[in-house]
Amino acid sequence: AIAKEDIYPQKILDYMEGFMVSKTLFVACELGVFDHLHASEHPLTAEEVAQELGTNKDATERLLSACVGLELLITQSDEKGQVVYSNTDMSTMFLTKSSPRSLSHSIEYYSNTIYLCWRYLNDAVREGTNQYEKAFGVSSKDLFEALYRSEEEMVKFMQLMNSIWNVCGRDVISAFNLSQFRSIYDLGGCSGALAKQCVSIFPTCKVTIFDLPKVIRMCRKHFLFKEHERILFHEGDFFKDNLPEADLYILARILHDWTDERCVELLNKVYQACRPGGGVLVIESLLYEDKSGPLSTQLYTLNMLVQTEGRERRASEYTHLLNAAGFRDTHVHMTGKLYHSILARKQTHGSTIT
Ligand code: SAM
Repeated sequence: AIAKEDIYPQKILDYMEGFMVSKTLFVACELGVFDHLHASEHPLTAEEVAQELGTNKDATERLLSACVGLELLITQSDEKGQVVYSNTDMSTMFLTKSSPRSLSHSIEYYSNTIYLCWRYLNDAVREGTNQYEKAFGVSSKDLFEALYRSEEEMVKFMQLMNSIWNVCGRDVISAFNLSQFRSIYDLGGCSGALAKQCVSIFPTCKVTIFDLPKVIRMCRKHFLFKEHERILFHEGDFFKDNLPEADLYILARILHDWTDERCVELLNKVYQACRPGGGVLVIESLLYEDKSGPLSTQLYTLNMLVQTEGRERRASEYTHLLNAAGFRDTHVHMTGKLYHSILARKQTHGSTIT
């Protein structure tokens, strides 16, 4: 057995410093460190990076060195014996702004919005409510009014939503064979990232992005400006307006924004509108049944606390909500990544859409 005085609290020290890791990543991205190193034809010294960025040389050297420790950059010696820096393959793929799989928008949103909300986690845990009022001085009575407090914030949120699907959108849409569903509505479809995945994987479906009018406007302006014959738009409020009839409704990261009551209210409406034999595809991050993990989802449910009215749930909780609205025959597909898919059906008497 290890003597008590020899126990070293490595894990606790790591957690204590965790925010320093996040901030180092945020700042390196915001300053464009990875973009400059990527654009350069050869590895750069700290002095050259500082010159490019217009930053302090010594401070930049410390930032780059921390990125080396985080395995986001690599160093080598150049012919003059100077230390020079370059991106790792992972940084080039996910941290440069021009990469098709860039996470830079997510990182920006974490840095400028989520990080500020988490400052009030203590209050959120005491009160059980989100912290928009304290963090940004806006009422969160209407959640999406608060999230979309300016057009700029709305576009940033949409970019955040968009960017993760570059990394794991294919997995959630290809989890089930959706080819029998011809008309698909993506409720709260936002930037259209999943609609694009859907039409590319299933060649006969039409996908309608249903979202608030101002979101649809921004989607057309910034994300789906090129016409796509199988992607359509529908402006509406899924709580207030009638939902159009369809074979399949996608609800990706929608239910986690809301309380159980509001989820059932929405699912009831989806059930009423759904063609018999059709279904609903719920895409969410899922907690293990005993809630012992995964850690990211445990942290996301805290994030839902500081940011929304909802929570992350277990697969059985989603099944329960779906059943309460009338859906049956629920199948859960774990993708092995952050988000998973649950397909449930509206039964006909004995037949489904084929
Ligand atoms: N489904 C997208 C995804 O996974 O990337 C976006 C998820 S985002 C957390 C929630 C989406 O629901 C936003 O696009 C938001 O504009 C939309 N939304 C919120 N309230 C809505 C309402 N009442 N009617 C229609 N859309 C709404």
